[in-house]
Amino acid sequence: MEKVFIFGHKSPDTDTITSSIVMENLERKMGNTGAKAYRLGKVNKETEFILNYFKLEAPELLEKIEEKANVILVDHNSFAQSVDGIEKANILKVVDHHCISGFETSTPLFYIAEPVGCTATILYELYMMNKIEIEKAIAGLMLSAIISDTLLFKSPTCTEKDKEVAKELAKIADIDIEKYGMEMLKAGTDLSDFTAEELINLDSKEFEANGMKFQVAQVNTACIEDVLKGKEEIENAINAFIKANNIDLFLFAITDIINSNSEAIVLGNKKEIAEKAFNVKLEDNRAFLPGVVSRKKQIIPVIKENA
Ligand code: MG
Ligand code: MG
Ligand code: MG
Repeated sequence: MEKVFIFGHKSPDTDTITSSIVMENLERKMGNTGAKAYRLGKVNKETEFILNYFKLEAPELLEKIEEKANVILVDHNSFAQSVDGIEKANILKVVDHHCISGFETSTPLFYIAEPVGCTATILYELYMMNKIEIEKAIAGLMLSAIISDTLLFKSPTCTEKDKEVAKELAKIADIDIEKYGMEMLKAGTDLSDFTAEELINLDSKEFEANGMKFQVAQVNTACIEDVLKGKEEIENAINAFIKANNIDLFLFAITDIINSNSEAIVLGNKKEIAEKAFNVKLEDNRAFLPGVVSRKKQIIPVIKENA
């Protein structure tokens, strides 16, 4: 039995956690009994709600990976967003739905990427391809990931395929998508007991463009004003992060999942790049970004273009 570590990105979101668990299930059903899911950070409240709902445990925490350890990456490929030591690990597989960036291997691998809204959508296809039946709880996890990544199909990242797969999964899991989906997303908007430092790290990713290092963090809320009450502490936390990690630009998106807009707090010595990217003038380091909900489709590309 060969040990295989399966994990998603740092600052784990629902898709990253559930896809690790689902991939473990799939690998084991294909005979790879050494496959095991891990997480690279704290599980967020939305994911906690989902795991409780399906009576499952969160995967074990993984802090670094040994040289030559066998790994499978889900929901990411960029080494900057992966586990410490990833450069020297033996990457067997990648199942992902992000642009390929900061990724390299010295041996051939199984790599599947599709421009769909969620890793779970691709995993569903892998079950179909391998003719493996999907259990109820596994279907529930995959459905939850699609709801989370597409904000209940409202994000511009959502494709027809995500919607079709979600419907199939809802049948297997016996779940009312709208009712469960709203409940699940709402569980993730309870930000009340996080410190500012925790808030900016809940869902935070590092990127690079044109030699510029930038970080984009995002939180979901039903009320932007509520989150802005802590703006001063948030700015202090961002400035400390910028200093500690040599970041040129930090964008913190507070996303209103009811009305599908975001408010951005932008700091760093290259913050004018964000002004150009969104054609806005920052006032008091902040700007309203109407219709912006997707980091992947509506934030990262325009920052990269203007870097
Ligand atoms: Mg993710
Ligand atoms: Mg994802
Ligand atoms: Mg996300």
